[in-house]
Amino acid sequence: MAAVTADRSSVGAIPQLGHAVILLGPPGAGKGTQAQRIAARYHLPHLSTGDMFRDHIRRETELGKRAKPLMERGELVPDDLVLSMVEERIAQPDCRNGFVFDGFPRTLAQAGDLERICQKQKFGCTFVLHMVVEPTLLMRRLTGRRICKAGGHIYNIYDRPPKREGICDQDGSELIHRPDDTEGVISERLHAYEVQTRPLVEYYTVRKLLSPVDAMAQADDVTASIARILDGAQIPR
Ligand code: AMP
Repeated sequence: MAAVTADRSSVGAIPQLGHAVILLGPPGAGKGTQAQRIAARYHLPHLSTGDMFRDHIRRETELGKRAKPLMERGELVPDDLVLSMVEERIAQPDCRNGFVFDGFPRTLAQAGDLERICQKQKFGCTFVLHMVVEPTLLMRRLTGRRICKAGGHIYNIYDRPPKREGICDQDGSELIHRPDDTEGVISERLHAYEVQTRPLVEYYTVRKLLSPVDAMAQADDVTASIARILDGAQIPR
């Protein structure tokens, strides 16, 4: 899915990043929303591995066929499949100045491989934004989430509803409820996060790459916190 262009009027001068930005946090932390905004602000591609898999499923590729049953159960796709897809994607010319990862890495093996790929492709890895949220909020956020079919704009029927039910405010397209945003599958996804992904908090803390972000705040405030961190970092060009 293409990154959504944000309203630049609130952004001011457009900073450039030559680095990989990683949004780390459980399902429902707001990674997709924030990744879209950061991608637009810094003119970087938004790389959502979940979106890439959903695209493979739509196109009925071999990869899509392997990923589909796992995604339907809320389990992670095996590392080797994720990694080859990611490596291919970040070798594309639009990733030369960096990229914003949403949903990757999700295991220690993926993080290790990303480090190696970044070294090989000479990316100044890495800014990891740890989206910190109370677990009790996540179920409500995920069951209420609706996503625009055309542009990926994200709503929540409880907290951030569209003006017209089922219709995207921005482009008028249909809003969909992801099949894995249902209670049973969400519990499985949250469990996968705790067991397989949470160890990355320690991994990136040890490497001094992790910045915590209060992701319980309103989306605009979360964006502002992230922008402060990224603008404030003296990133070599
Ligand atoms: P997301 O859209 O990020 O919530 O991802 C949806 C689903 O895609 C996950 O529940 C996994 O089944 C799969 N997936 C996405 N990214 C990864 C990843 N980095 N590693 C393994 N599985 C992934």
